Amino acid sequence: MSATPVDPRLGVVYPVGLRLAGRRVVVVGGGQVAHRRVAGLLEAHADVVLVSPEVTPALEALVQPGSLTWHARPYADGDLDGAWYAVAATDDPEVNAAVTAEADRMRVFCARADDRSQSSAWTPAVGRQGDLVVGVHGGGDPQRAVGVRDAVLAGLTDGTIADTVARPADGRGSVVLVGGGPGDPGLVTVRGRQALATADVVLADHLAPQSLLSSLPAHVEVIDASKLPRGRSMAQEQINALLVEHALAGRRVVRLKGGDPFVFGRGWEELEACAAAGVPVEVVPGVTSAIGVPGLAGIPVTHRGMTHEFVVVSGHVPPGHPASLVDWPSLGRLRGTLVVLMGVDTAPAIAASLVEHGRAADTPVAVVVDGASPTQRLLRTTLADLGQTLTDEAVRPPAVWVVGDVVALGA
Ligand code: SAH
Repeated sequence: MSATPVDPRLGVVYPVGLRLAGRRVVVVGGGQVAHRRVAGLLEAHADVVLVSPEVTPALEALVQPGSLTWHARPYADGDLDGAWYAVAATDDPEVNAAVTAEADRMRVFCARADDRSQSSAWTPAVGRQGDLVVGVHGGGDPQRAVGVRDAVLAGLTDGTIADTVARPADGRGSVVLVGGGPGDPGLVTVRGRQALATADVVLADHLAPQSLLSSLPAHVEVIDASKLPRGRSMAQEQINALLVEHALAGRRVVRLKGGDPFVFGRGWEELEACAAAGVPVEVVPGVTSAIGVPGLAGIPVTHRGMTHEFVVVSGHVPPGHPASLVDWPSLGRLRGTLVVLMGVDTAPAIAASLVEHGRAADTPVAVVVDGASPTQRLLRTTLADLGQTLTDEAVRPPAVWVVGDVVALGA
C-alpha cells in the first residue's frame, strides 16, 4: 500500500497584483466571507457583481450606494460571463464546486473559499500603507500569513522596517501635523505613528504623548515646542518658522500636537505658514481631549434621550473679557453638555456666568485632570461648588471640565 504522492507543484503560487479597476468580478455568496472579499475588491475599484439569494446587512449597505450590482437569486451557470475574476464563497460546497467548474471552463481565475485545493487563485493576507501593498501567502496556513502580514505592517508603522520610498524622490521636505491624542501613546492614530516612524525632525508639544518621543530613533531631532500655561513657551511664530525652515532643507517634519491639531491647537496657523512657503502639509487628525478625556473617565459627552448637543469652549479668557468670542448667555441657556478646555483659572467666573444666565446651580460637573495619564483624576462637583472644588483639590492644568446631566451617568 502506498499513499498517493501529492504533486509538489500544487502548493506553488505565482504572485501577481490584479488591476481590477472597472473590470467585472463575480462573487457568489452573501455571507461574512463574501463580505470580506467584496470589501477588498471594492478597494481595488473592481466592478463587482454579487450573486446570492440573501446577503448580510453589511453587504446590503454596500449595494445601497450603488458600488456593486446584486442579483438576489441563486447562482446559475453562465453567471461568470464577462468576468475577469471570480470568488466562490457560498456555504454550499456543491454551489462552490459548480462556480469553480464554470470558472475553469471559462478560464477565469477563481478563489474558492471553502476549498483552496480546488482554487485556481489564492488570496494572500493583505496589508496596505499608502500605495505600498503587502501580500503574504502562508503556504496553506492563513494564520501564518496573517501573522507575517501583521508583523510587516507593525514594522512599517514603528519604523523598524524602513520604507525608503516614503521619502519623495525630489528630496523635498514636508510637514505632517499629527494629532497625538490626549497623552496615552496607544491613542495616536496608525497614520500618526507612520509619520513619526519616517520623520527626520519632530516638534513636540508638552501635551503630546511624550513616550512616543522616547521610541524615536536616535538620529531624529526632537524640538521642544511646549507652551506651558503661564510658563515658558515657544512663540508660535518661531514654531512656524522652524517647521518651514526644516522642511525647506529637505527634511520630513512632524509637528506632534496634543489632541487634535485643529481644536484650540493653532494647527491652522502652522498649515498656513507652510502653505505660504510652498511646503506640502498633511493633516492627521487626533483624538481630542474634549471628547477623549471625559470618555476615558467614564463620561459620555452625549447620551440618547438626554442630550442632543455638546459644545466645546475655550476658557482661556473669562466671560466679560474684551478678547472673549464666546456667547456666554446662550451657553447658560444650553440644555446639553458643555466641555471646557483651558479653563482651570477661569472656572469660577465661567460657572457664575452660566448660573447667572440660567443653568441650574446644582448641575453636575466633572473635572478630569491629567487625562489619559497614570495620574488621571476625576472630581465630581456642581456648578455652584466648582471653584471651591478646584481650590480644595489644588487642580492644575491640564484639565477638562464637563457640565451637564451626562456627568451623573457614571456616578
Ligand atoms: N488640541 C488639544 C487641545 C489644546 S488646548 C486637543 O484637541 O485636545 C489645551 C487644553 O486641552 C488643556 O488646557 C486642557 O483643557 C485640555 N487637555 C489636553 N490634554 C489633556 C489631558 N491629557 N487631560 C486633561 N485635559 C487635557
